[in-house]
Amino acid sequence: MYILSEKKWKKIALVNLLAWPSRLFWELTDKSIKKYISNWKKILFITNRKWFSSSNICKDCGHIPRCEHCSIPIAKYKNKEQFIHMCPICKRIYENTWVCQKCWWTNIIESWIWTYKLQEILQEKYNIKSFIIENTDINSKNKILKTQKEIQNKQFIISTNIFSQYSKNFIPDLIIFFNADTWLSIPDFNVWEKHFLFLYEFIKKYPTSNFIIQTYDIEHYVYKYILQLDLDWFWKKELEYRKQFNYPPFSEIVVLKYKNEIEESLYRKMSKLESELKYLIEKENIDIEIYQTPQLVYKKFWKYNYNIIIKWKDIKPFFDQAIKRLRIKEKWFQIDWLPNNLI
Ligand SMILES: [Zn+2]
Ligand SMILES: [Zn+2]
Repeated sequence: MYILSEKKWKKIALVNLLAWPSRLFWELTDKSIKKYISNWKKILFITNRKWFSSSNICKDCGHIPRCEHCSIPIAKYKNKEQFIHMCPICKRIYENTWVCQKCWWTNIIESWIWTYKLQEILQEKYNIKSFIIENTDINSKNKILKTQKEIQNKQFIISTNIFSQYSKNFIPDLIIFFNADTWLSIPDFNVWEKHFLFLYEFIKKYPTSNFIIQTYDIEHYVYKYILQLDLDWFWKKELEYRKQFNYPPFSEIVVLKYKNEIEESLYRKMSKLESELKYLIEKENIDIEIYQTPQLVYKKFWKYNYNIIIKWKDIKPFFDQAIKRLRIKEKWFQIDWLPNNLI
């Protein structure tokens, strides 16, 4: 199933991946690619290379190889002409990742379309040579200039969201967002806003291009308003959602971050500060929301990471007092005022 935008002057197609699981090159995507190739048109493939949505998995037992020092899956990178398996956080390199460390079968498969995987598939399936814009291509001014030049004459480009750096140098006729929303399962209050604005700005930037967006959540309001290109209505809906859960701008947030190598010490420290804060809140007789939660990546460089989240409409006066009375700064807590994310 797919839905076409109602705006006649622009074609945006939503592809429902739930209806065709595991077939990323389903009919519409496949047909479009073939059509654009045969007409010498330019295609931009946008894929998500965020480490938390990419991993290998054992086909026999379901085991996902993870870094020993950090609680995230080992990822695959291309280093010069070779592929290496490396932890995206501590950069430790792993050998033998094709052997499952749990059942010792050699049936590890890549469960995610990465830029290089996509390039391979495009070559095999359509016999086209595509150009990948690397994350490292935005590291220096020289690299940016070189890539800007290089992509001008290309027909097929694969990129992640770093493409915005190069948006003037390559005007695609078709833009395909592969698995557009996989990373939206991150438990944060503003992921939908970020996702909407990312798509919206892209679509606005290319008035002559057509778009295919693959999603698992075709009914979501993000896509409803993307098809209508309606920023105002998106905000209305987004604010309703934030109000319901008391997220900013309806509240202010402070995050207290703490890490420790020993889990028990971590829990003890967190619980102690949480109950001290709760005691202060009770005394003040205000209904401040407070809770503990592990960080999205619980273990980094051998250390466990936890947050205390405090939410209220006017948090500063209370928290200034709490910092002094509980001597929070001396207890090795990192204080994050009005953060952009809660993970
Ligand atoms: Zn296994
Ligand atoms: Zn690691």
